[in-house]
Amino acid sequence: MIHAAVPVNERQIEPRLAKRFHQLLQQHAPPADLAFTEEFAMALVADAVQWKASDLHVEPAVAETRIRMRVDGLLHDVAAVPAVSGRHIVTYFKVLAQMDTSALARPEHGHARMDASGMQLDLRITVVPTPNGEMLGIRLLDGLRTVLRLDEIGMSGPEQSHLRQWLSEIQGMLLVCGPVGSGKTTTLYSLLRELQGRPCGIVTLEDPVENLMDGITQIEVNEKRGLTFSDAIRAMLRLDPDFLLLGEIRDPESAHTAITAAGSGQALLSTLHARDSVGAVTALRNYGVKNWEISAALEIGVAQRLLRRLCLRCRVETEITDAQKECFSENGMVAPTRLWKPIGCDVCAGTGFDGRLGVFELWRLDSEARSLIQHGADEPALRQHAKASGSRTLLADALEKTAAGLTPFAEILRLGRQARSAA
Ligand SMILES: [Zn+2]
Repeated sequence: MIHAAVPVNERQIEPRLAKRFHQLLQQHAPPADLAFTEEFAMALVADAVQWKASDLHVEPAVAETRIRMRVDGLLHDVAAVPAVSGRHIVTYFKVLAQMDTSALARPEHGHARMDASGMQLDLRITVVPTPNGEMLGIRLLDGLRTVLRLDEIGMSGPEQSHLRQWLSEIQGMLLVCGPVGSGKTTTLYSLLRELQGRPCGIVTLEDPVENLMDGITQIEVNEKRGLTFSDAIRAMLRLDPDFLLLGEIRDPESAHTAITAAGSGQALLSTLHARDSVGAVTALRNYGVKNWEISAALEIGVAQRLLRRLCLRCRVETEITDAQKECFSENGMVAPTRLWKPIGCDVCAGTGFDGRLGVFELWRLDSEARSLIQHGADEPALRQHAKASGSRTLLADALEKTAAGLTPFAEILRLGRQARSAA
């Protein structure tokens, strides 16, 4: 039995996001046997591509399996199928990724390629054992997607100039900060694109490589085949590049590698989990990096988030409230006379949104900031200095984009606690 219109766990299922899949469910029984499973799985991926979903989940519950898609950062329930059908779909993708099809005792990862809707997709597959069976997560990457230019990621002109200036100086460390899925890698690739064709050596160390780029040496960590992170770092440093991209600083080892490279005449780009640009200092300290090392190496901290972009076809104007006006003036901005809100139309599948939009904060360290770090200044002190020296906050950038009608005011709440207290 299909429960397409029944809420699962009080969440509303949105079958419109999985149209082809639901058409198949109407034509055939759900994939209780393997005969139709491939067709169902292909239809799911095609639906995910149509709605530009970043991830596809197959999540087993007690009686049924929920199928979900992450679109513009939000996870939507798109269908529920009987548990046995869910198991067949999971097995199909495991076979596709050449993974062991017996029940797993621990999480496993695999890769697969698939053609869907005229696109070459790169599927990053994760299977996790749960008490109800195996849960499947698929990250969908467009194998041929174009790398965005620096002026296409939504960053303001002056901030782009700071980054270009840093690229021309070839020194120190640039860190892009934010949570998972905040567009950090997109920003790094847009910087690599700026460097393409210049007479300089560029080497990346990624896990995994997300975009292949001409003229750049890209190393992929592959523990299964014996290329560990430590080996890859040594190989990368031996190549003596001018620019070095480390996919992520995630432990003391990668933090010290980054600092060493940046201190030896190479320019280093990387990403870091930190709430804002100043938070990069705390994160590095937590990985055991000394204050003087941070002060000598760190040149630029960029923080970013992705907010949902309003569908320009159906957005409508809305009154601005007094509290909203106050939020603008508290941030030293003139409040607009009106704001915009989403409605929903055929083009945006009724969501009112069309993809996502980057909001940024850029902190270029000056001599005073270096001195503060060296003397162990904490985050509030560094943040105050950054603000006083003209660095615009994530919240201020988001407010500007709200005033321009690119995103609704409600999206600002997604910036987190700091923004919520201000908004
Ligand atoms: Zn629309």
